[in-house]
Amino acid sequence: MANPIYKALGSTVFDTMSALARETGAINLGQGFPDQQGPEALRRAAGRALMEGSNQYPPMRGLPVLREAAAEHYARHQDTAFGADGVLVTSGATEAIAASLLALITPGDEVVIFEPAYDAYRPLIARAGGQARAVALQPPGWRIDAAALEAAITPRTRAILFNDPLNPAARAFSDDERRILADACVRHDLYAICDEVWEHVLFDGRAHRSLAALPGMEGRAVKIGSAGKIFSMTGWKVGFACGAPDLIELIARAHQYLTFTTPPALQEAVAEGMSWPQDWYAEMRAGYQRSRDRLAAGLREAGWAVLPSEATYFLNIDLAASGVTQDDTAFCETIVREHGVAGIPVSAFYGGQGPSHIVRLCFAKKDAVLDEAVERLGRAREVMRG
Ligand code: GLN
Repeated sequence: MANPIYKALGSTVFDTMSALARETGAINLGQGFPDQQGPEALRRAAGRALMEGSNQYPPMRGLPVLREAAAEHYARHQDTAFGADGVLVTSGATEAIAASLLALITPGDEVVIFEPAYDAYRPLIARAGGQARAVALQPPGWRIDAAALEAAITPRTRAILFNDPLNPAARAFSDDERRILADACVRHDLYAICDEVWEHVLFDGRAHRSLAALPGMEGRAVKIGSAGKIFSMTGWKVGFACGAPDLIELIARAHQYLTFTTPPALQEAVAEGMSWPQDWYAEMRAGYQRSRDRLAAGLREAGWAVLPSEATYFLNIDLAASGVTQDDTAFCETIVREHGVAGIPVSAFYGGQGPSHIVRLCFAKKDAVLDEAVERLGRAREVMRG
């Protein structure tokens, strides 16, 4: 008998929608990835390292040059105090999350998650023997409420798994909300697995603050990052887990039996990018912010109710407020098959208590692609409006 957790699962909503987009030739605003190549300097650095550097196993914890660069990068951008011995290089952020859960969770433990939650969380928690306890955040504010968090914590709670900024809500949490979480972690003696892969894709002058950097979090927080998101190359799958050396050492023991290492050429290139000046990051954000504004303005003009997007590659539309009565799942089926645009139904990120009228669209695309998608979605709304 195969393991029931995976037997009961289908393909991820991202893979399913991308496959449908390929099959129908639709514009893919579903799965979140930019339709550009990523920084040329980084691709050249990786090419050089591939041809001239080592292609054998790098150290299990990651290349020293990248661990140094990541520690320095986070100290400079987010005031963290990790040294290189507090950095583990992983094969993407999802592997870092998996390794953290495997290392920190004992069967029977509960893990608090915040919905809408990234789809990998529940199966990874379950396979580690844990039980997910969800705090369901609601649009349009998606705010964390101290009482709702407290109600989700039981004597069996071992950790919180917190995605900030939050995909798919496109929300960057406030200092107040992070303080609520830090306070709960300290009072209940919990680990915090901080999935911060969107830390650099923030808009309107926002700066990211890590829950891991708050007082009381040292030794209990692991901060997870993703070079794929930082440098717009989602296929690279280079991630980081950062924290107190003892905690990272534990997580490394799980990592050594998952992927063990990550391609050295990519690690070398990422080390170079991590030390780029602030200007590069500001420009990257400004580019995505322009794309966000272009898609939002076009959709609003076509009559769609668009929710605020503070971060990530995504914005959400509110079907009900746009006069469309179909639920998000049916709507996404209709637009990909009949109108040539793929999106992601946000109800897929909830275990049951979520809204069913919100659809996520990715704006990390060229202007012409966004404009064509707006045209098509405008026509779709005309047909579907009750
Ligand atoms: N993070 C991507 C998104 O939210 C999806 C990644 C994946 O397909 N596994 O769209």
